Amino acid sequence: MTKWIYAFGDGAAEGNAEMNFVDPQPVLVPIQNTEATYPVNRLFFVGRNYEDHAKEMGSETNKEFPFFFTKSLSAYVPSGSTIPYPPGTKNFHHEMELVVAIGKPVFEVLTEAAKESIFGYACGLDMTRRDLQTEAKSKGLPWDIAKDVEKSAVLSAIGTVEAIGHPTSGLIELSVNGEIRQSGDLKELVNSPAELIAYLSNFYHLGPGDLIYTGTPSGVGPVLPGDQIEGHIQGVGTISLGISD
Ligand code: MG
Repeated sequence: MTKWIYAFGDGAAEGNAEMNFVDPQPVLVPIQNTEATYPVNRLFFVGRNYEDHAKEMGSETNKEFPFFFTKSLSAYVPSGSTIPYPPGTKNFHHEMELVVAIGKPVFEVLTEAAKESIFGYACGLDMTRRDLQTEAKSKGLPWDIAKDVEKSAVLSAIGTVEAIGHPTSGLIELSVNGEIRQSGDLKELVNSPAELIAYLSNFYHLGPGDLIYTGTPSGVGPVLPGDQIEGHIQGVGTISLGISD
C-alpha cells in the first residue's frame, strides 16, 4: 500500500514520515451584539445583480437566469483585516455587496420559503482580479483564479433577521481612502436575497452555513497597496479592509 510522504519540512530528510494532514479549523463569523457565532460552510456569489454594474461591465442582467460562482472557504477573511496585494494581478478590484446567511435547510423551494430560511445579513467584499476575469471572459474560460483569490471573501459580523429584519432598501456604499467609489441602493437588486436562494436551491441542498454574496452596485475599481477600504449598508452594518504590499 502506498504511503503519502512528506515532500517538505523535517520529514523530507527522513524520507519516510507519514503526511500530517491539516486539521481544518471551523470558520466562525461573529453575530452582531452577541457572543454567538455563525459557522460557515459554503460561499456563493451572484454576478450582475445591479443594472448599473452590469452596464459598466459591458453586459446585461438576466433576472430569470442569474449566474453564480463560488469561492473556497479559505478565501474568507473577517472585516477589519489587512490583506497583502495578491500575486498575479495588476488590477485588483473592490466589489461591495450585501451578504445573506442561510439558517435552515432548503431545496427546490419557492421565494416565500426561501425568505423564511434566512438567518441574517452582513456586509461583504468580493475582491476580484479584474484583469484575469476580463481575459477569462474573452476566452470563455472559468473565473476561478480571477475570483477565488486568497483572502478575497471579506465579511462583517452578521445581523440576525430578529435584530434587523429583511433589508429591501437603503444605501450601500464603499469608499477608498475616504473617497466614495460605490454608492447604490438595495432596492436596485435585480433578484432579492430570497429569490437568489430559491433559484440556487434548484441546484444545491442549501442550509445553515451557506452564504450568498448578492452582487455589487456600479463603481467597482482598483485598489493599491496602502489603501484602506470602508463600506457600509444602511440597516445592516459596516466593513473595512486594508491592503498591504
Ligand atoms: Mg461580486
